[in-house]
Amino acid sequence: MFTDYAKIIIKSGDGGNGAVSFRREKYVAAGGPDGGDGGRGGSVYFVVDPDSNTLVDFRFKKKFKAENGNNGEGARRYGKSGEDLYVKVPQGTIVKDAETGKILADLSEKEQTELILPGGRGGKGNCHFATSTRQAPRFSQDGEKGMEKEVILELKLLADVGLIGFPNVGKSTFLSRTTSATPKIADYHFTTLEPNLGVVKSEYGDSFVIADIPGIIEGASNGTGLGLQFLRHIERTRLLLHVIDVSGIEGRIPVEDFKIINDELKSYSEKLSTRKQIIVANKIDAMQDEALYNDLEELAKKNNMEIFKISAATGEGISSLLKRVTDALKELPKENLLDIDMRERKVYTLEEEKEGFTITRKDGIIYIDGPAVDKIMRRVNLDDNESMYYFQKCLDSLGVNEQLRKEGVLEGDTVNICGWELEWYD
Ligand code: GDP
Ligand code: MG
Repeated sequence: MFTDYAKIIIKSGDGGNGAVSFRREKYVAAGGPDGGDGGRGGSVYFVVDPDSNTLVDFRFKKKFKAENGNNGEGARRYGKSGEDLYVKVPQGTIVKDAETGKILADLSEKEQTELILPGGRGGKGNCHFATSTRQAPRFSQDGEKGMEKEVILELKLLADVGLIGFPNVGKSTFLSRTTSATPKIADYHFTTLEPNLGVVKSEYGDSFVIADIPGIIEGASNGTGLGLQFLRHIERTRLLLHVIDVSGIEGRIPVEDFKIINDELKSYSEKLSTRKQIIVANKIDAMQDEALYNDLEELAKKNNMEIFKISAATGEGISSLLKRVTDALKELPKENLLDIDMRERKVYTLEEEKEGFTITRKDGIIYIDGPAVDKIMRRVNLDDNESMYYFQKCLDSLGVNEQLRKEGVLEGDTVNICGWELEWYD
């Protein structure tokens, strides 16, 4: 069965921690700080794999993790960066945030690569924190954590050719004869509940993907029946093969079927109704009345459409039809017809977390909270005066101190920052 949905978990690598280290030299009691930076964590990218047509691989492997960065070391040695991870998906895959449903990327182009989760930054080693007044900083920065996200992968069919037509006209039979797909074939309506994909290899070595679209019924474009959902699948095809039963054995009238299906297409999507269409007159092995076919041929000519007589059952006429399809596809550029809906596209960055902080007062205590300060707190060693000093500077650059002054903070006020109580002095 054709899989077009998968849920996986991705995680970017943690940044390595910065090192605390001091240079040791002969006859020098304590050298300068030389702790190197931690390496960057690996990022998670999604990349289009031209050889893949389904999301079936994701049924077995569900967790994808980029490598962590290594910690920094003495002598200003940097930690090694974590390897980036490239998750391979078929062309046409849409990546969504499982929690919010937001589209993170639409991988519709050949060789397209998208950054989905950036790796955590490496922490700075203590060699960065030396100043004229602080020559031996005994602290370093921890690396930033990577991000974890559950994502949904959705694959819209990127078939080159869509088979349309009433139920029971022989679409599945045609697909099974021309491709290695094995759709269900039965003698009743709505035999095909899932669109089936097949790859047709032409005599010349080139190939195209063909999709069996389940029977379009009248009213499909109004959302009745299964039709509408399936009509979406043919939106991205470049060529439509309109299969019509011309045998008369089921009492169908070919010219009427032609009109009904085309009206349906038109009311669903103007664009789709103007897509190139080749008429496939099927079941000629069981023709009961030539006139049925002749009328259809006339109508096809009037509409400037080519018509091919075949029998999906016996194979008659199929090879010349496929040759024509191969040639027609060469003339139909993919780019023009890919009608990509970019909607809201968003790439998450760690920068986002930096956002705000809040200042609230309760029982004479000033509380400062928020992801930005929280993040700084996590990187600070509170037992170390120098580290605290560095922390102060971070609060300054965030604008926390300025905001406190604006709100009239007084010398001696108690300020609670993410659970730590400190006394304010300017
Ligand atoms: P679909 O609903 O369009 O996919 O139609 P199917 O491929 O399931 O075929 C419906 C019925 O028509 C089946 O009983 C097939 O065996 C029969 N059929 C399909 N193609 C031909 C054909 O070329 N000649 C004849 N005589 N019967 C056919
Ligand atoms: Mg079918």
